[in-house]
Amino acid sequence: MIVAMQDKATEEHIQHVIERMVELGFNVHRTTGATQTILAGVGTPGHFDVAEFKVLSGVYDAYRISSPYKLAGRSFRPEGTTITFPNGVVVGGEQITIMAGPCSVESREQILLSAKQVKAAGAQFLRGGAFKPRSSPYSFQGMGLEGLKLLREVGDETGLLVITEVMEISQIELMLPYIDCFQVGARNMQNFNLLRELGHVRKPVLMKRGISATIEEVLLSAEYILSGGNYDLILCERGIRTYETYTRNTMDISAIPVLKKLTHLPVMGDPSHGVGIRDLVPPMALASVAAGADGLLMEMHPNPDKAMSDGAQSLYPEQLEKLIAKLRLLAPVVGRSVA
Ligand code: PEP
Ligand code: MN
Repeated sequence: MIVAMQDKATEEHIQHVIERMVELGFNVHRTTGATQTILAGVGTPGHFDVAEFKVLSGVYDAYRISSPYKLAGRSFRPEGTTITFPNGVVVGGEQITIMAGPCSVESREQILLSAKQVKAAGAQFLRGGAFKPRSSPYSFQGMGLEGLKLLREVGDETGLLVITEVMEISQIELMLPYIDCFQVGARNMQNFNLLRELGHVRKPVLMKRGISATIEEVLLSAEYILSGGNYDLILCERGIRTYETYTRNTMDISAIPVLKKLTHLPVMGDPSHGVGIRDLVPPMALASVAAGADGLLMEMHPNPDKAMSDGAQSLYPEQLEKLIAKLRLLAPVVGRSVA
């Protein structure tokens, strides 16, 4: 940490700042210029809040020079994390991973047909919510356990891996036998108790960016899961809330290369929630991969016009097929491939 003192800071102010830095475990190096004193704190103290220093008397400004996320930071695993699933599918490697399916599991027929279509298009994962975080309590809340069983059944039948959202701690045990990857939704990115528990399971987790979360907050939330010992974590950009209302959210494509630079974790893009409008999903999917995404999570429904949730942003099956064909052409340009 660097603390720059004000020109008018007194020796008492400076000593007070030094004492607080030493208390936190920093070795303090002091440079006194003609007018200003700079204090450089080196060492590896535990958690500290730089904001605390910014408001101390006599301080002009304070900056972190090390990242607050130790396990999520790129330097922890400079070569990058790859996650190998039971059937050999690798996330974070050279191949782009495609996860697709309806927003919600609605019935056996709907999820079986979805799985067949998703598989035919070339995806590796079937997505589908069994527990749904809906903005309104009166909207469809998901099929629950029945939905989990259906996902597993049709996943096995078609040879697809299965990803679905976990909304609370009590669902973790229930879900374990049925799923291949937990999805933490945008609304739960800062449900720290849930994140801690997911750190203790030995099953991969895909964590979405919160609706108004900064990139640093995403990485600190990742740290909750990693610090429990679960290193099989995928991050996912799914759009953030801005003043723009034309699209459902603003798909922050730039977050993808930023995250790839800051963390070793695989990064995926979810253009469906990112824009909320079906016809805008393919261009944003292509943009995500061009920007370095390790994969895509997308909504596709056999009959989107009748979907019980997120129909407007769900691709028609033929749209998904066409998109994946385009991704196969694009991926080599950025040194990747699509199965
Ligand atoms: C979903 O994937 O259907 C979902 C609810 O996503 P998000 O958490 O990004 O809103
Ligand atoms: Mn959805």
